[in-house]
Amino acid sequence: MSSNDKDDASHSGTGDQAGDSSDHAVGKGRAGTRENDIRNTEAVKSTIADQMSRLQQANANLVVATIEARKLAEQVQMAKGELDHLAHHDTLTGLPNRILLNDRLAQAIALAQRSGKQFAVLFMDLDGFKHINDSLGHSVGDQLLQSVGKRLLGCVRQSDTISRQGGDEFVALLTDINHPEDTALAVQKMLAAIALPHHIDQQDLHISASIGISIYPDDGMDTETLIKHADTAMYQAKSKGGTTYAFFEQEMTDRAIERQSTEASLRLALERREFVLHYQPLIDLHSGTIVGIEALVRWRHPQRGLLAPADFVPIAEDSGLILPLGRWVLREACCQAQAWQDMGLPPVTIAVNTSALEFRAKDFLVSLCGILEETRLQPRYLELELTESVLMQDASSTHSVLHALSAMGVHLAVDDFGTGYSSLSYLRRFPIDTLKIDCSFINSMTDNANDASLVSAMISMGKSLKQRVIAEGVETAQQAAFLLDQQCDEGQGFFFAHPMAAKALIPMLQPGFSVKPYLH
Ligand code: C2E
Ligand code: MG
Ligand code: MG
Repeated sequence: MSSNDKDDASHSGTGDQAGDSSDHAVGKGRAGTRENDIRNTEAVKSTIADQMSRLQQANANLVVATIEARKLAEQVQMAKGELDHLAHHDTLTGLPNRILLNDRLAQAIALAQRSGKQFAVLFMDLDGFKHINDSLGHSVGDQLLQSVGKRLLGCVRQSDTISRQGGDEFVALLTDINHPEDTALAVQKMLAAIALPHHIDQQDLHISASIGISIYPDDGMDTETLIKHADTAMYQAKSKGGTTYAFFEQEMTDRAIERQSTEASLRLALERREFVLHYQPLIDLHSGTIVGIEALVRWRHPQRGLLAPADFVPIAEDSGLILPLGRWVLREACCQAQAWQDMGLPPVTIAVNTSALEFRAKDFLVSLCGILEETRLQPRYLELELTESVLMQDASSTHSVLHALSAMGVHLAVDDFGTGYSSLSYLRRFPIDTLKIDCSFINSMTDNANDASLVSAMISMGKSLKQRVIAEGVETAQQAAFLLDQQCDEGQGFFFAHPMAAKALIPMLQPGFSVKPYLH
C-alpha cells in the first residue's frame, strides 16, 4: 500500500468516527473526498512525472557515462599501442629497436627451420660518425642517423627489418634469401645509398658504412650468435678500411679469441719481464761502420716462443698497453745505450720506435726526460722514430712536443717513409733529422723502374732538406750498390746484420769495426 492509499483510509475513517451522518455532511464529505482524490491523483502524477524525469536524467547520464567509458577505453587502447610502439621502436629514427629485432629474428628462425630456407643478418656501423657528431654537433649527427635509416629502408623489401641498435649501429634482417650472394647485392645497394650526400643543415654530408654479414643456419642457429658473428664480420670490413662489407668466417672468431687471450697475457707480461729488446745496426754505406742502432721489441711468450712486434704491438696499441710497454722499451733502450758507453765503447745513437698513442700521451715529455735523467743517457744519443701518421696530426701539441724534443737535442726520424700520407708539408714544419725509406720500396727498386725512381727522388728530397736518409730492409749486395749509386748514405737490413741480442752486438761496436768485408 502506498502512502496515498493510507491517507485515503485515514480521511474516511476520520469522518465516520466524528459521527457526522447528515446528507450535507455526507455530500460535503463526498465532495471533500473527490477533491482529495483529485489532489491525490495530481500528486501521484507529479510524483510519477518527477520520477520519470529523474529516470530519464539517470538514463541520459548513463548514456553519457557509457560514451565516455568507451572513449576512455579507446584512449587506454591507444596509449597502450603507443607504449607498445615506444617499447619496440627507436625514438630517433622510428625504426624497430633491439627488442623488436630479436622478436623478428626468433620468428625468422622458426620459419626458416620449417621451410629450410636461409636468411641474413647484417651488422652495420657508420665509418667516422663520431667525428661528424663531435665536430658538427649532436643535432646534425641525429639528422644524419635519421637520413641513413630512411635510405636503408629504401633498399630492402617490406618483409625485411632494418633496426637501430643505438649509436651509429644498425642491424638488418633479410629474410628468404636463396644464395648468400643475393645478400652481397643488397648490401652493395645499401652501401651505395648511404654514400650519396646527405643534405643536412644546408650542407652536404658524406658518410660511409662497414657491414658484416652472417647467414642462418651456417653462421649461427640462434639470435645472439647470428648478431655476434655479423658484428665480428663488420670489424673485418672495418679493418679493410671501411666502405665495404665482409661475410663472417669462423677464422675471424678464432683470431678474435686469440687476440683476447694475447691482450690478457700482455697485461701480465710486463710484470713477468717477458719482453726483450733486440738491436739492429744502421750502417754507413760508404765505410761499413755502425752509425746507429735501432731497438726492436720482442716478447718471450711462455707458450708461443719469441714473438715479433707484428703479433702484439697492434694489440698493445688498441688496448692502451702500449703506454707502459713503450715506457719500458724507452728506459731499457736508453739504459743499454748508456751501458755500452760505460763499457768504453764509442757512443752510438739509439733509435726507439714511438707509437702515436705514446707520443700523444700528456706526460710523454716529462716521462722521457725522467728516463734520460735516470739512465744518464745524453739526449743527443737518442733518436725517436715516428710514423707519418703521427706527424700528419697537425695538432699544436705535435708541433710543441717535436720542437721541445729537438731543442733538448733528441733526434727525430720519420719511419716507414713513403707509405703514409701524400702531403709532405710536415717535413717543412717539423724539425725532422732523418728519413727512413720503407723497406717495400727497397725490396722492389732493383726490379721495378717506378720504385727505383721513387727511391731516387726520396733520397734527393731528403738530402736537399738536409736530412739523413736511411734505406730500410737492405737484403742484397745489389740493393746496397744501387743505393750507393743513388747517393744514399745509410742502410739497415739483413744484408748487414739481423736484429740481435745486446751482447751479440758488442764486437760490432768496437772501434774500427766495419761490415765492409760483407759488402764485397
Ligand atoms: P720498423 O721500425 O720499420 O723496423 C724495421 C723492421 O724491419 C723490423 O721488424 C726489422 O726486423 C725488419 N727488418 C730489418 N732488416 C730487414 C730486412 O733486410 N728485410 C726485412 N724484410 N725486414 C727487415 P720487426 O722487429 O718485426 O718490427 C716491425 C715493426 O714493429 C717495426 O718496424 C716497428 O714499427 C714496430 N716496432 C718494433 N719495436 C717496437 C717498439 O718498441 N715500439 C713500437 N711502438 N713499435 C715497435
Ligand atoms: Mg723503426
Ligand atoms: Mg720502418
